[in-house]
Amino acid sequence: MQSGQTPCVVIAGRPNVGKSTLFNRLVGRRQAIVSDMPGVTRDYKEGEARLGGRLIRIVDTAGLEEAAPDTVFGRMRASSETAIGQADLILFCIDARAGVTPADRHFAQFLRRQNRPVLLIANKAEGSAAQTEVYESFALGLGTPLAVSAEHGEGLSHLMREIADRLKGDEKDALDEAGAPVRDTDASDASDDEVEAPINTGPLHLAIVGRPNAGKSTLVNALLGAERMITGPEPGLTRDSISVQFRDQKGEVQLVDTAGMRKKARVEEKLERISVSASLEALKMAEVVVLVIDALLGVHEQDLQIARLIEREGRACVIALNKWDAVADRAATMKAVSDRLEISLAQMKGIPVITFSALTGAGINKLMPAVRQVHDIWNCRVSTGELNRWFEGALERHAPPLVDGRRLKLRYMTQAKARPPTFILFGTRAEQVPEAYRRYLVNGLREAFYLPGVPIRLQTRGTK
Ligand code: GDP
Ligand code: GDP
Repeated sequence: MQSGQTPCVVIAGRPNVGKSTLFNRLVGRRQAIVSDMPGVTRDYKEGEARLGGRLIRIVDTAGLEEAAPDTVFGRMRASSETAIGQADLILFCIDARAGVTPADRHFAQFLRRQNRPVLLIANKAEGSAAQTEVYESFALGLGTPLAVSAEHGEGLSHLMREIADRLKGDEKDALDEAGAPVRDTDASDASDDEVEAPINTGPLHLAIVGRPNAGKSTLVNALLGAERMITGPEPGLTRDSISVQFRDQKGEVQLVDTAGMRKKARVEEKLERISVSASLEALKMAEVVVLVIDALLGVHEQDLQIARLIEREGRACVIALNKWDAVADRAATMKAVSDRLEISLAQMKGIPVITFSALTGAGINKLMPAVRQVHDIWNCRVSTGELNRWFEGALERHAPPLVDGRRLKLRYMTQAKARPPTFILFGTRAEQVPEAYRRYLVNGLREAFYLPGVPIRLQTRGTK
């Protein structure tokens, strides 16, 4: 934002989420003016609003959708691009009642690449009818959604304060530039050594792993039977792996390696070695890993070993407790499993556990939604502003410890990359943060930004 100019706030989102309604709320119909925007054939609405003592320009991109051909997303994008290019802040609206749609996801992905501040708005959230959908929108990677009802005028004062706050942050960042390190560029410098996997727009890469006889083959067959298979078995990347593709409700899924199904060929090998090494191969190619555990046997040390591999490789994970049909005391079994995971897998807190029977198919429909959810979380991005608002609170609640008699000065955090979520902590002697404090921060991040079932990386960078 250039100083002296009126800051520009752009309202964007797919059609029908309530952009115009919000615009009218913020601007008031009186003030609405219509002006031409170069590059698009349709007019866009622009108005002024007063926030505190400050005048801001508000641009409504509604109605621009019809301007360009192609898909809904293509239309939204082409038409909104020009407006977004001038935005100091984007209000990205979703419909809290409809939940997050594929068009929202696409748009969010596009916005994340624009490198402009985005405030996620869950509109139509009057009452609290849409709580779960609001929750789901965390997965868009645009921070905590702000629930409002444009039509009923709920949550608007909160929204105005947020807008004012974000625009103030802009001014401050600009001022900071000379002295303090600049956030986002620092993040990309710091992550030189770790290149983020490209955003995968193709199928979701899924691996199903577990000990022999946990029921992996049965599960794969059930999945392929229940979902429409679009390609048959084809040679995979390793000598004896098989790769198949199928479609679930959200799109295509590639089973990267149906490991374990080859077990018959290798009976002479020690069972542990087979399952762990085969799992390792499979999960290297996967984005999400389903760890199948035989509920009749409970969590075995080898299951934990595989789970730790998943963590080490940075993959998202869902635990599938199979053979649920044959479990006599379900409550006791669930408790035993949860306790074991809680104690032995602290680094993957809150990992989703799904129970089903691969054999009968009961409960199997819960699996793919859980997989999709951790995949979204694995891909998510938390904005620097959001992150540091949380970080300040975390420092206040629990001050950094003394190291060699001096208190560590931790300054700020940024998310360097996703897949898995990787954060960088900057501060004087940040690299000396003790393990316990690091765990406190990681657990806090996991809770505050809702990141269950994915590894969280926290790197440290010392500053002068
Ligand atoms: P746009 O296409 O994104 O500009 O959406 P509109 O502003 O035209 O709104 C689309 C529809 O959603 C209209 O029927 C509005 O009345 C309705 N709408 C907008 N805001 C709210 C809201 O807060 N709650 C509910 N229930 N409906 C809303
Ligand atoms: P894999 O070695 O992990 O591929 O395991 P399989 O799919 O070959 O299954 C091992 C055994 O467990 C077979 O006898 C299956 O019939 C049985 N099994 C698999 N899933 C279930 C289930 O949900 N319930 C029960 N009762 N048995 C199952």
